[in-house]
Amino acid sequence: MSAKVIDGRQVAAEVRAELAERIKMLAGRGIVPGLGVILVGDNPASLSYVTGKERACAEMGIYSDNQHLPKDTPHAELLSLIQRMNRDSKIHGILVQLPLPDHIREQEVLLAIDPDKDVDGFHPVNIGRLVMGAPRFLPPTPHGVVRMLVASGVRIPGSHVVIVGRSNIVGKPLANMLIQRGEEANATVTLCHTKTADLPSHTRRADILVAAAGSPGMITADMVKDGAAVIDVGTNRIDDPTKKRGYRLTGDVEFETVREKASVISPVPNGVGPMTITMLLANTVLSAELANGGLGRDQ
Ligand code: NDP
Repeated sequence: MSAKVIDGRQVAAEVRAELAERIKMLAGRGIVPGLGVILVGDNPASLSYVTGKERACAEMGIYSDNQHLPKDTPHAELLSLIQRMNRDSKIHGILVQLPLPDHIREQEVLLAIDPDKDVDGFHPVNIGRLVMGAPRFLPPTPHGVVRMLVASGVRIPGSHVVIVGRSNIVGKPLANMLIQRGEEANATVTLCHTKTADLPSHTRRADILVAAAGSPGMITADMVKDGAAVIDVGTNRIDDPTKKRGYRLTGDVEFETVREKASVISPVPNGVGPMTITMLLANTVLSAELANGGLGRDQ
């Protein structure tokens, strides 16, 4: 069997078309969704992520307030910028690109963001809402994974999902989304990490396997059940002198061999990456709707 390849750009375009309608409705009420984007330092990967997010805002007619700060920006200065954005009614979402430089206390920064503008869904209030099954903002990457599965016709309820990676931004929120009651959930979830004993014995039992470890090609065909759906979140830079930029992106899944076993597979690049940006925009639009009396996803 050769798997159906899920084109993340295609699914993202479908979501963006829905968003464009909602942005038009907001515009009719004189409202422009706004995103505050904060980058501290000059990490090349982070710069490329925020540039992608700023470009996506411009394409969709979302206002963005882009703040690129030097890497020695004092902690207090970053907090005051966040406070300023918390008060700014033109800004409905605030994104602080991680990782932050070592002298900045990341947890304090995430706590400083108004939970009602926390479009990344990293604030403890939003994590609590998610765990309780009453989310305001679903974290963009896990939300993107779920949308890709649904768009490719993969049935989640009753399935056994195995997630490799337990980070706060991917594995843990995804597990918490999938164990909820609901049409796009109701799964049984196994969450694996570096201390999991005999990882292949778990991955081989997955109807849906999500790799989010940051370890290039670690998921090989012998770790995958015949007919499984495989979503590769991993985005790893591998040196490649034949490329103009000197590197290529590769996932956590050994794509060519695993695609012969899976029923559905997402590639890297052009898989989860475009979905993450799009679901961030979706949260910004939702936040603008909620701040202006509703018509959001929950209404
Ligand atoms: P982290 O480094 O924060 O977490 C990685 C997790 O994977 C940890 O829980 C770690 O276990 C586990 N892990 C690592 N190696 C193994 C292994 N060999 N076996 C089992 N478990 C393993 O990474 P992130 O969650 O931030 O990111 C994961 C990957 O996803 C990265 O490649 C990142 O670039 C990508 N990513 C892509 C996004 C996108 O939009 N496409 C968005 C976010 C991330 P332990 O906890 O024990 O250390």
